[in-house]
Amino acid sequence: MESIYRNPNAHVEDRIKDLLSRMTLKEKIGQMTQIERGVATPSVLKDLSIGSILSSGGSMPSVNALSAGWADMVDGFQKAALASRLGIPLIYGIDAVHGNNSVYGATIFPHNVNLGATRDGDLARRIGVATALEVRASGIHYTFAPCVAVGKDPRWGRYYESYSEDTEIVRKMTSIVSGLQGRPPKEHPKGYPYVAGRNNVIACAKHFVGDGGTERGVCTIMASYSSWNGRKLHADHFLLTEVLKNKLGFKGFVISDWEGLDRLSQPHGSNYRYCISTAVNAGIDMVMVPHRFDQFFEDLTYLVESGKVPMSRIDDAVERILRVKFVAGLFEYPFSDKSLLNIVGCKLHRELAREAVRKSLVLLKNGKKPEKPFLPLDRNAKRILVVGTHADDLGYQCGGWTKTWFGMSGKITIAPYFNLSQNYYFIPGTTILEAVKEAVGDETEVIYEKYPSPDTFVAGDFSFAIAAVGEEPYAETLGDNSELIIPLNGGDVISLVAERIPTLAILVSGRPLVLEPQLLEKADALVAAWLPGSEGSGIADVVFGDHDFTGRLPVTWFRSVQRLPMNVADNTYDPLFPLGFGLTYKKEKSLH
Ligand code: BGC
Repeated sequence: MESIYRNPNAHVEDRIKDLLSRMTLKEKIGQMTQIERGVATPSVLKDLSIGSILSSGGSMPSVNALSAGWADMVDGFQKAALASRLGIPLIYGIDAVHGNNSVYGATIFPHNVNLGATRDGDLARRIGVATALEVRASGIHYTFAPCVAVGKDPRWGRYYESYSEDTEIVRKMTSIVSGLQGRPPKEHPKGYPYVAGRNNVIACAKHFVGDGGTERGVCTIMASYSSWNGRKLHADHFLLTEVLKNKLGFKGFVISDWEGLDRLSQPHGSNYRYCISTAVNAGIDMVMVPHRFDQFFEDLTYLVESGKVPMSRIDDAVERILRVKFVAGLFEYPFSDKSLLNIVGCKLHRELAREAVRKSLVLLKNGKKPEKPFLPLDRNAKRILVVGTHADDLGYQCGGWTKTWFGMSGKITIAPYFNLSQNYYFIPGTTILEAVKEAVGDETEVIYEKYPSPDTFVAGDFSFAIAAVGEEPYAETLGDNSELIIPLNGGDVISLVAERIPTLAILVSGRPLVLEPQLLEKADALVAAWLPGSEGSGIADVVFGDHDFTGRLPVTWFRSVQRLPMNVADNTYDPLFPLGFGLTYKKEKSLH
């Protein structure tokens, strides 16, 4: 007779109980282990019954950057996992944080800070649906998204991963979960994992706690590297177990962050064994090891056998992991669905990304005098000058996490970016320059100077200029920055041009940057585009007036870094532009 756990019609909880009763300690520890792709050999996967693999930080598999290559690779890993004694499928996880940003040809959606500017929860949900499809097309089942951090200080390198400094806006945007995982029916029990079907992915709200709200039904939650009341979250039994699991009734699994256990340095001199027992006993279920899996197996086995980690805790962790696997249908459909391949970067998804770009632009200034607006731009102008480092660069437009790490120095470059002959890949999409060219009339000449100089103007006779400047891509701590000056001399570029001809300045950045009063004065119009992703046409749609501006600041625009962090609730709150600010064509000024 077929085992209960293999019966798709049996109740999930019965399947879990049946499977768990058949598992050895080694297999249980295997399920709790998430390893990096680079160490995932078929024998490791099979012999240790590894529960999950990840590709960190968007690194590309060398086999192929295309979806089909990814899908074959993930299927290969899955085959090895299914060859294990009990044939438990693995979960492959990746940071698909603004579209499937590690895969060549994927639609690169704007980053979370953009979505916060839209205030449009349904848009976030639809982006979740599209992202899930593009992720699934690559054979991947799991994304470490959404990041529901509530960004309070733009000096933080992960600020753009936050939707907003306002918890209510962040909460609204968590509707992306119901796009990624599918929307649970009304009667779905609170806290119980949910994945609608094969076109959906397992989501991961990160990083718990202090990170804003999550929607009911999210399958997994990632613990934060940070501490609360002096205790690391990875070691916090009260928050992980008593609050999240017991009080809030969360039935999915809690995953550690990358080497999160290794960072448990309290008490001083703690060894890895101590870190493992503290974290697992606190409530971490799956451990992103990611390389030291031998040590992890050895130490956790010892800890269980010596009674330092109770077997009941191991069983609870494994039950949670198996629950997500059953709910996600991995036992029934462990392999990729090749029919999804042509959906990657499809027109419909690019249209959706373009809509998101449109809705996320925030108009900070329009015209030197309010009664004389500068935008919308005249698409039939005689000659338009486009300048700046960010005018024709999809890598800059996409920002961090659209990248690969090179070595431990942590230098980030944009992976799908350079030339094919150099073994890199272009990101398919539309730059601001290309979008402008597409938008203007046949008679209009568009001149591009990446680095304009006074000589640029010898040719003279430009109707106006568009200057796109901003930040280079960064992720995590590499983005920590206490100055927040517009990099790459962006301020000088705006000044140089704006002193000579009317200028629209477009800031491409993951956060507010210092805007000196003189600069603000010189520019005729200023738009915060944040990190818009692959569809630059969304910018042209709005600046040429086909659509109005609807985006509003999801965060406070500070006056000077000395005043950071700023808090709307403080009576000293004196921003350059307050949370919610955003001009439109219709009204002179709107504050929401
Ligand atoms: C980040 C997580 C990410 C993980 C895996 C960590 O460094 O903090 O947000 O999901 O790496 O790439």
